[in-house]
Amino acid sequence: MSETDRYTLEREAFDELFAALARRGYTVVGPTVRDQAIVYDEIACSADLPLGWTDEQDGGHYRLRRRDDQALFGYNVGPHSWKRYQLPPEVRLWRARRDEHGGLSELAEAPREPPRYAFLGARSCELHAMGILDRVLVGGAHPDPADRARREDVLVIAVQCAQAGGTCFCVSMGTGPTADSGFDIALTEVLDGARHYFVLEVGSERGADVLGDLRHARAQDDEREAAAGAHARAAAQMGREIDVTDIRELLYRNYENPRWDDVAERCLSCGNCTMVCPTCFCTTVEDVTDLAGEHVERHQRWDSCFTIDYSNIHGGAVRASTRSRYRQWMTHKLATWIDQFGSSGCVGCGRCITWCPVAIDITEEARAIRASEETGDAGA
Ligand code: SF4
Ligand code: SF4
Repeated sequence: MSETDRYTLEREAFDELFAALARRGYTVVGPTVRDQAIVYDEIACSADLPLGWTDEQDGGHYRLRRRDDQALFGYNVGPHSWKRYQLPPEVRLWRARRDEHGGLSELAEAPREPPRYAFLGARSCELHAMGILDRVLVGGAHPDPADRARREDVLVIAVQCAQAGGTCFCVSMGTGPTADSGFDIALTEVLDGARHYFVLEVGSERGADVLGDLRHARAQDDEREAAAGAHARAAAQMGREIDVTDIRELLYRNYENPRWDDVAERCLSCGNCTMVCPTCFCTTVEDVTDLAGEHVERHQRWDSCFTIDYSNIHGGAVRASTRSRYRQWMTHKLATWIDQFGSSGCVGCGRCITWCPVAIDITEEARAIRASEETGDAGA
């Protein structure tokens, strides 16, 4: 079985994938419909997938719509990302109780083994986001063992996009729409009249092992072409882009651009963009006690550079204005991230555009800053 080979799996046999993963001890996490959105959660069979649903997305806009077919993966990315499994929204770090001498005794807990996850349905931009977050969380000299344990042994079954979402711009960020690495298996869904099937690529020995349990066939030329056509359609549909030419230098030159005042008038500093972003990784640490003061716990939870507390140091917040917080977020994503971690922090998934309540669009803001230099409106 070569990594350049392609195979087909009929829709009727798709649930064999869940059985094969269960036999290997994997807990499958994938897309499912909840609260009128497509989110990631544990799923057990294809009936748990968003069968026959699609998502309609634009700036500040997300709606689920019925498709006129029974596609399993006929939508793009939702408010969740795989970040919630790499860096969970809340983690208890430590707990203690008051002892008989009035001091605190730590309540030791046996470390819990994270489940052995199979991620089903990761898109190309998400594979890139996982890689970026891996560099941040476990790529340094002293990674947190808990962060490392969460990523060990994760099996990834990617889904190639057959359509672009309304806010996607992965083509311009060089992160999609077609995944070429970072997966164990990648599948492309094809609906061709009465026939519903998947074209599979194998990316690892583990993927080949799983494929061996499925009733598959070698893909014929027309089936390979159908998959390639779906990938090309997604790329051609993309309606947004960021011109990344010298983007780091562009933003470094524009700390005082008046556009930051313009965006600050619209931005609510709500932090939604950072919560949904698959690469934002700011966290804070919080201590909580019971009312009697007998029991104390320390939690790590997601935070955001848009909260005033996040930039609070001795003497006050260093980013007291919305202008400075938005500038920090966007300049970090597109410029300082490159110095810090060797790549852009943005993969073009479009979530921050869709889930911004006032439809602020990072592609539009980047374009406005570039245009202001050309028109002489870039300020000092
Ligand atoms: S900045 Fe926006 S488009 Fe870029 S990765 Fe984060 S959520 Fe996606
Ligand atoms: S850019 Fe939008 S989502 Fe982000 S903090 Fe401002 S209002 Fe909220």
